Amino acid sequence: MKKTVLIERKTPVVGIPRALLYYRYAALWETYFHALGIKTVVSPPTSRQLLEDGAAMAVDETCLSVKIFYGHVKALIGKCDFIFVPRVATFGLRREMCIRFSALYDQTRNVFRESGQRFLSYNLDANENIDQEKAFLNMGETLALGYSQAELKKAYAAAEKADQRAWREKLRAQEQILKSKGLKILLVGHPYILDDPYLGKPVTDFLRSMDVLPLRADIVNRDAAIKRSLDVSPSCKWEVNRELLGGIEMLKKEVDGVILVSAFPCGPDAMTNDLVTRKVKDVPLLNLVMDTQTGSAGTETRLESFVDIIRLKKGVL
Ligand code: SF4
Repeated sequence: MKKTVLIERKTPVVGIPRALLYYRYAALWETYFHALGIKTVVSPPTSRQLLEDGAAMAVDETCLSVKIFYGHVKALIGKCDFIFVPRVATFGLRREMCIRFSALYDQTRNVFRESGQRFLSYNLDANENIDQEKAFLNMGETLALGYSQAELKKAYAAAEKADQRAWREKLRAQEQILKSKGLKILLVGHPYILDDPYLGKPVTDFLRSMDVLPLRADIVNRDAAIKRSLDVSPSCKWEVNRELLGGIEMLKKEVDGVILVSAFPCGPDAMTNDLVTRKVKDVPLLNLVMDTQTGSAGTETRLESFVDIIRLKKGVL
């Protein structure tokens, strides 16, 4: 009689930096790895120390968001077999990500070249005919753990489902706020700025403490937002900035004010924020640019004055 021999796969631990696209794709990434039986470890929430660690590894011109990303990578060094750094270049014509996302994998490996740490990536690049699913299947193969195509496809399908579920929940929460009564302010920024506990989260929390209902320009139907962005700029080529421009168009009549929140120095935001400042005239606007020196006291003073001005205009102060 033949004996069944069980061969145990030694699966690696993958470290995921809690920064940049983690705030867009957390459910997608974590579900994919877990469906393949791979453990993940996520770096701790951003702190002052983590920001300073990241800034110390970066050249001055690097944007604050990437500096923070390096801080998260540093926090994972030695705590996992691979650190996950995807390369997301473009989803198609005029659907590009900021150039920093194309370079992120190579730059991160270079910055941490002396650490001995191994990195793992997927490469999403419509210019090379690699869509998201293909990128994930390719990455599964590079893990060289003997996953079959069927296993990889099943893991990706589960990840996509989790991603859609997480997205629907965000849309539902935003719908609830839209239906609520009260002073509403639209926050416009990349999710990795607005959701970061050190950067954008204090802004949201402070607004809430002033009885303001914060809405998000990035949490709208993305296809509809891309179409609406054409009303403001037919030539903007950055996917996320187009979503934000469209989100403002879709929600500006529902809110009492708009706050642009960006990281210094950011090329895409500098161009689109300038556009917004010139074209969005019918609603009060505040522009917050965060850098390594930004302190909460100064930000809170600006937010307080902005909210007071809106309340004065509405005659409720
Ligand atoms: S879009 Fe701006 S903040 Fe985001 S990675 Fe690019 S330069 Fe940095």
